[in-house]
Amino acid sequence: MAEYANIIIDISLEKLDRPFQYLVPDRLVGKLEPGMVVQVPFGNGNRITRGYVIGLTGEAEYDPGKLKEIRAVDSSGVAVEAQLIALAAWIREQYGGTMSQALKTVLPIRQKAAAKQKRTLRLLMPMEEARAELSESVRRKRRAQVRLMQALIEHEAISYETATKALRVTASVIRALEERGFLKVEIQKVWRNPIHEMEEGSRKEERKTRRKEAPSLNAVQQQIVQEVTAEAEGEAPRPCLIHGVTGSGKTAVYIELIARAVERGQQAIVLIPEIALTYQTVMRFYERFGERVSILNSRMSAGERYDQFMRAKNGELDVMIGPRSALFTPFSNLGYIIIDEEHENSYKSETTPRYHAREAARQRAKICGAALVLGSATPSLESYYLARQGEYRLFEMTERVEKRPLPLSEIIDLREELKQGNRSILSGRLQELMEESLLAGQQIMLFLNRRGVAGFVSCRACGHVFKCPHCDVSLSQHNDGRLVCHYCGYQQPMEKTCPECGSKYVGGFKAGTQKIEQVVKERFPKARVLRMDFDTTRNKDGYEKILSAFGSHEADILIGTQMIVKGHDFPDVTLVGILAADLSLNSSDFHGPERTFQLLTQAAGRAGRGELPGHVVIQTYQPENYSIRLAARQDYQAFYEQEIAYRRMMNYPPARHMLQMLVASKDQLYAEMTAELLENKVQKAVADGKLPGMTVLGPTNAAVAKVKDVYKKVLYFKHEEYSMLVRVKDALELFIQKHKEFQMITVQFDFNPMNGF
Ligand code: ADP
Ligand code: ZN
Ligand code: ZN
Repeated sequence: MAEYANIIIDISLEKLDRPFQYLVPDRLVGKLEPGMVVQVPFGNGNRITRGYVIGLTGEAEYDPGKLKEIRAVDSSGVAVEAQLIALAAWIREQYGGTMSQALKTVLPIRQKAAAKQKRTLRLLMPMEEARAELSESVRRKRRAQVRLMQALIEHEAISYETATKALRVTASVIRALEERGFLKVEIQKVWRNPIHEMEEGSRKEERKTRRKEAPSLNAVQQQIVQEVTAEAEGEAPRPCLIHGVTGSGKTAVYIELIARAVERGQQAIVLIPEIALTYQTVMRFYERFGERVSILNSRMSAGERYDQFMRAKNGELDVMIGPRSALFTPFSNLGYIIIDEEHENSYKSETTPRYHAREAARQRAKICGAALVLGSATPSLESYYLARQGEYRLFEMTERVEKRPLPLSEIIDLREELKQGNRSILSGRLQELMEESLLAGQQIMLFLNRRGVAGFVSCRACGHVFKCPHCDVSLSQHNDGRLVCHYCGYQQPMEKTCPECGSKYVGGFKAGTQKIEQVVKERFPKARVLRMDFDTTRNKDGYEKILSAFGSHEADILIGTQMIVKGHDFPDVTLVGILAADLSLNSSDFHGPERTFQLLTQAAGRAGRGELPGHVVIQTYQPENYSIRLAARQDYQAFYEQEIAYRRMMNYPPARHMLQMLVASKDQLYAEMTAELLENKVQKAVADGKLPGMTVLGPTNAAVAKVKDVYKKVLYFKHEEYSMLVRVKDALELFIQKHKEFQMITVQFDFNPMNGF
C-alpha cells in the first residue's frame, strides 16, 4: 500500500532530482497516480501549492512524523505536464532507469538562460503634453532627449535598438524619460523560429523552384484520409500503419490529416528521422501551416528547443516536426502523432531510458486520446506484425503517384565478376549503365551500404559468411583474430581458406567511400563527383550543401553511405548503384536481413522519382539471399513472410521480446562475477518455476568488450510477454539496490534492442 508520494513542485532541472515526500491521507490511498496534480502545503508558511505526483512508495525516506500531508487532488484542468509526467512514469517502468532520468526525457526543462527579449519604447504622455516636454528639452538643448522625443512623437513606438543605435541615445536618457512618464519600456519575449533560419540558409534557386501548389489528393490518398480521420475522431483510436511504396504520396496524406485536425482545434506532432528533416520536406508543411509549424533538431541549443516547446505550450503552434524528442512537445489538445519512416533505428534512444519513440508515442496517444499514424515503405517487422494481428489498422499504398513506374532492378553476382577477372568495385554492367547515363546527361547515385558492419568475414569467391552455429548471426573478427558470436560467446579461430569452396579469398570488407570515389574518378575522368559520408558532412551545413549542389545538377555522380538514401527528391537521378548489398546482411545481430531489405528498397526508391524511369543495380556476393532478391523485386509481403518465419524459429522479436542487460565495471573479474551471479539468480528462478517460458543467454562480452578501462558484459532474456521481462528487470534492479556489494558495477537495460551494447 502506497502511503507516501514523491512530489515535484516545480519543473526545473535542479528540482527534478529532489522531489519532496508527502504523506498520503487515508482517503487518498489507492487513488493517486503519477502525473496527478495535487495541492500540498509548501515552505515555512505552508502556503498551499500545486505539485505533481511523480511516484508512490510504501517506504518513507525521512521521519514519517515530520512529513506534511497532501491536502487534495487538484482536478481543475489537467495540465499537459501531468500527461507528460504520466508518460515518464510509464517510460521508467517499461525501460528502466530512474524517474529523474525519465522526467528529464519528457519535460521541457526550464533553462537558466534568459529567453531572448525584445524591448520597445512607447510614448506614454498625451500628445499635447509630449509636445510641451519636447519644446522644453529643445530650449534646454538636451539633444539626445530631443532626438528620442521627436522619434516617439512621430512613430509612437520604436525598438530599443533603434533608440540606442540609430538615434545614439544612452540607457540613462531612456531611463530619465521613463521616470518622467514620457515613455514606457515594453518587454516582450520573442521566440526564435528555426524555420526562418533554415530558409535563410537555403539557396535562392532552391527557394524558387521548390514552391509550388500542393497537388490535390488521388483516390487512394483520399480514402486513407477519410478512414484515418474517422478512426481519430473515435473514442479510442487504434494506431494506423500506412505501408506505402516510396513516392506513393504518404507525406501528402499526413498533411491533409493534420489540416483537418487543426480545423478541429487540435495539434499534431510529426516525427521524421533527423537525416530526412530537409528544407524540402519542412517547406511542404510550412506552405500549408505557415508560422504555426516549427521544427526541432539536434543542432539547436537547449534554449532554442525550450523556446519551441514554449511556443507550443502557449498555443502559438499547431504542428511540430522533429526527431525522437519532438514526441514530448507540450501540446494540450494533441490530435495526431505521425511517425514517418517508422522503421528507422534512430527512433530508439541510445541512452537510458532506452525508449522506442514508436511505443512511447503509442502511450502518449493513449494518455491524451490522440491518434497514432505510422508510415513507411518498409515497415518494421514489429509494426507489420501488430498490424497483421489487428492491433494496428493497416493501409496499403502500392503505387507511386501519377503511376510513375517503380525502378527496374538488376542483381549482379560479384562472385562471377571475380571469376571473370574483374576485381574492381564496379561491375562491368554497372560501368556500362553509368556510361549511358552520363552520355544522356542524367545523374547517378552510388550507395555503399555500411550499416552494421562489425568485422564480419566472408568468402569473395563463393559468398560464404562465417556464422555462429547456434544463433545464425555473423561472427565478428576480434583483434586477436578469433571469430566471436555476440549473443552466446561462441568462438572459433579465423580460417585461411573457405570451408565451402576452398578459395583463399576470405576476409573482411574494407573499401570505403573515399576508395570508391578514387575508382570512379579514374574510370570516368570527365564526370563531376560528389562524396557524402561522415567526413564530408562533419561541419554544420555540409549535409545540406552537398544535397543541394547535387539537386541543382552541379555534379553527375553522388557517392555516399546510408545518408544519401533519404530526404531529397532528385528528379534527374535515373541510375542507382548499390555497391555491396550484403554488407548490412552480415551484421552481428539478428536485424541484418531486415536492415538490408530496408536499405535496398529505400535506395532503389531514389531512382526515377521524376519524369524519367529509373534503373537500379544491386551488386552482391549473395544473390540468392531472400532479402536481396525480394528488395530487388520490391516485394515487402514476401519478405515479411520469410523474415517472420525466421524470427519465430530463432525466437527473436517480434515473435519473442528480448531484454538486453549491460553489466559494467572497472574491475574485469568483478564484472564477470556479478554478471554470472545475476544470470544464476534468474536461472534459479526459472528452475524454480517462477518465470515460466523465460530464456536466459550469456553472459558474453559486449561488442566492444572494454571501453575506457570499463569492462562490459551482456545478458539476454527472452520471453513471449513483455511484462515478464519488465518483472525480471524490476527484480534485478531491486536486488542490486539492496546489496552494497553491487556498488562497483553499473547496469543498463535495453528492451527489444536495435543495437548491441
Ligand atoms: P512519400 O511520402 O510516400 O514518399 P510524397 O507525399 O512525398 O510521397 O509524394 C511524392 C511526390 O509526389 C511529391 O513530389 C508530391 O508532391 C507528389 N504528390 C503527392 N501526392 C500527389 C498527387 N495526388 N498528385 C500528384 N502528385 C502528388
Ligand atoms: Zn568460398
Ligand atoms: Zn551464438
